[in-house]
Amino acid sequence: MIAPAPDRPPSTAQVGTLSPEMLERFGHDPRARFAANLALAHRRIGAACERAERSIDSVRLLPVTKTVPAEVLRLAWQAGVSDFGENKLQEARDKAEQLQDLPIRWCMIGHLQTNKVKYLTRLADEFHALDSLKLAEALDRRLETDDRQMDVYVQVNTSNEDSKFGLSPDALLDFIGGLKAFPRLKPRGLMTLAVFSDDPNRVRPCFTLLRELRDRARQVDERIAGLSMGMSGDYELAVQEGATVVRVGQTLFGPRPTSNADYWPGATG
Ligand SMILES: *Cc1c(COP(=O)(O)O)cnc(C)c1O
Repeated sequence: MIAPAPDRPPSTAQVGTLSPEMLERFGHDPRARFAANLALAHRRIGAACERAERSIDSVRLLPVTKTVPAEVLRLAWQAGVSDFGENKLQEARDKAEQLQDLPIRWCMIGHLQTNKVKYLTRLADEFHALDSLKLAEALDRRLETDDRQMDVYVQVNTSNEDSKFGLSPDALLDFIGGLKAFPRLKPRGLMTLAVFSDDPNRVRPCFTLLRELRDRARQVDERIAGLSMGMSGDYELAVQEGATVVRVGQTLFGPRPTSNADYWPGATG
């Protein structure tokens, strides 16, 4: 999954550049703290895989770095991470500029407005929040201009909450059929955000539904094989329900100072 990093010598000079606010949030040795958090998350994914009788290689941990400053991403890179998940394009672009010297794979996981596709294709390798044919069309056209392709996950609203982006489950199969008109898009699977709850009996059905939808979507397009689901609060449950990508932020980088409502309209907390 995440490669060990003997080829990525730590540059202690970077740590010295952390501001007092960052020291407060990430500690005096953010690289070591991150590496320990990462190892723990891998162990938990491993245990969840065992319970579900799955191979640990079938789950990819995608570290999510929204609100985490570029200096800390550099330390995470030194600890072996190459793919970073970001929710907002502008924030990702700012960090990418500061980290130009690193071969990072940027994975955009947040809702995107159609008029922003050119920034997405310039930056990102993967997009996890495809949720309309209008966006698919604009993205395909832009990828054609840039002469490249992009891995995409189709976002589904499995919690039936207005606060979540994504297609309604009823609309999914037609949508998947429609995607075939866009040759530059490489559909990799489905993505969802479960209901925010501490109660597994409310969270699990969202993951189960996405898995069932994936099984049906795969009959329309066999490339729809992946399941991008599970965050800090629920990734073990997601793995048990079949997640192939878990998008984990706060478990690795500590609590976020921003509110969920900054990312999901109507969300609280
Ligand atoms: C922030 C975010 C995550 C990760 O959330 P954490 O609580 O930090 O683990 C996952 N998916 C999306 C779409 C996000 O925006």
